[in-house]
Amino acid sequence: MRKPIIGGNWKMNRGTPAETKEMLKKLLPLVKKITNVDIVIAPPFTALISAIDLVKKSNIRIGAQNMYFEEKGAFTGEVSPKFLKDIGVTYVILGHSERRNIFKESDELVNQKLKKALAMKINPIVCIGEHLEEREAGKTKEIIQNQIDKTFKDLTKEEIIKTVIAYEPIWAIGTGKTATPEQAEEIHVFIREILASKFDKQTSELVRIQYGGSIKPTNAKELFEKENIDGGLVGGASLEADSLLDIIKAADETTI
Ligand code: PEP
Repeated sequence: MRKPIIGGNWKMNRGTPAETKEMLKKLLPLVKKITNVDIVIAPPFTALISAIDLVKKSNIRIGAQNMYFEEKGAFTGEVSPKFLKDIGVTYVILGHSERRNIFKESDELVNQKLKKALAMKINPIVCIGEHLEEREAGKTKEIIQNQIDKTFKDLTKEEIIKTVIAYEPIWAIGTGKTATPEQAEEIHVFIREILASKFDKQTSELVRIQYGGSIKPTNAKELFEKENIDGGLVGGASLEADSLLDIIKAADETTI
C-alpha cells in the first residue's frame, strides 16, 4: 500500500561535479526499470544543479540535505527553499541528527522548516531518533514521542501524509551498528501509534516511515521486509552505485 522510498544522503562525502557525474551515470541505467520504489539522491548543495541535469526524464529525484524556512533575506550562509524549488529540487532532508547535534538545530526549528517545505511543495524527509545513552536508559519511546510532538506540531492530516519520516537511531548512523529488524520495527510501530492518536489510524497507515542507520546490501532486505519499514535513508552505502542498487533492489523485492 505504501511505496517504499530509498534516499541516498551523500552528506559532505561526495559531490564535485566529476564525482556526481560518475556516480549518477553509473546508477541511472541500473535503476531504469525500477518503478515500485521512489529513489532520491541528496548530494551537497553545490552538486544539485549538475545532479538535476543528469537525472532529467529518469526515475531518480534529487533532494537537498537542508534548507532554511525563510524564502529571502539577510540569512548569510542559508539556502532558500525558493532557490531549491527553482532549480528542480523535489525533496529535502530535514532535522538529520548531524544537523541537530553538530549545528544545534532544535525540534522547533525543524518544525518551521518542515512547514515551509510543505508550503513550497518540496517533499520533506524528516529524521528523528535517539542517542545510545537514551536507548540504554530505556528512554527511546519517550524521546521519539517528544520529537514527534514538537517536530510535527500543528501539521494537518494532508501534510503528515506528504511527510516522509526517517527513524534513524543515532547510535546506528555511520557506526556499522544497525538496529535489528525487530528493534527498528518496534519503533516504527510506535511512531505509527503516535500518528494514529494525533490524527487517525487511516492517516497513520499512509505515512511512509524509513529506517536509517548503517543500511548495507547485506542487511537491507531483512529490514525492508518488516511491515512498517518503508525503505531507508542511506549514508555510506549510497556513495557507490553498486551498493545503492542492491539496497534499492531489496526494497523493490518487498513490493512483489
Ligand atoms: C544517514 O546519514 O542518514 C545514515 C543513515 O548514514 P549511514 O547509512 O552511513 O549510517
